[in-house]
Amino acid sequence: MIVGPNDGPMACGEFGPGRLAEPPEVLTAVRAFFTPKDQPLSGRHVLVTSGPTHEPIDPVRYIANRSSGRQGHAIAAAVAALGARVTLVSGPVALADPPGVAMKHVESAREMLDACLSALPADVAVCAAAVADWRTSRSADAKIKKVPGAPPPALELTPNPDILATLSASGPRRPRLVVGFAAETEDLIANAVAKRARKGCDWIVANNVSEEGVMGGSENTVHLVTEAGVEDWPKLSKTEVARRLADRIAEAFA
Ligand code: C5P
Repeated sequence: MIVGPNDGPMACGEFGPGRLAEPPEVLTAVRAFFTPKDQPLSGRHVLVTSGPTHEPIDPVRYIANRSSGRQGHAIAAAVAALGARVTLVSGPVALADPPGVAMKHVESAREMLDACLSALPADVAVCAAAVADWRTSRSADAKIKKVPGAPPPALELTPNPDILATLSASGPRRPRLVVGFAAETEDLIANAVAKRARKGCDWIVANNVSEEGVMGGSENTVHLVTEAGVEDWPKLSKTEVARRLADRIAEAFA
């Protein structure tokens, strides 16, 4: 940003472009520069899930996965930057809360589902969390003891609720745009297309997690699967994936 120079008389006696802009003019220009102009999602409520879930085995042990929450948190920040009111429901992560979003910190899939349902209504839901598929059928109230000579305890698992599918099927409270993620190691596109239909969501962001560094890393090569087809995006930082997705969401609401 350049302010001035202004026309007028100068100290050397010459007249023309060369005068320092007046302080109020500089102040107005600085204010305008730092005031966000493009807020296409203002007035919209975007719900984002992020991070892993922890499913308790006993008070000290849990089932987890390698999700860092980077992608989901970046999406929350990106839609907030476009003016959206954002509720970020996050499992346990080592990331700072993005500024300007309403946080709901949860641990398990069931807590995440409850937090999402209580955040409705929303215009958009982006389910980027790596929700554990299973939890233990019963979590022990006390730490399970290691008994010398005894066999290890058997873990009986039961399916967790599917948050994306639940939000997609939430009837009149269904967000107008529901976006899911598909982390696959093979047949990426075919699986993502099938997942879009199965979960009842509008878009799927598909990524190949067999690639080194995607899970927990900072870069992502994704494909956006919509009703219109499949878009291949180049390898991008997770922040840039988030910005592009936020722009696409804004376009959908334009
Ligand atoms: O079925 P799968 O885990 O591959 O689907 C991934 C997508 O579904 C992600 O968007 C994830 O956030 C969402 N999901 C969910 N609740 C689950 C499992 C997955 O919201 N229990």
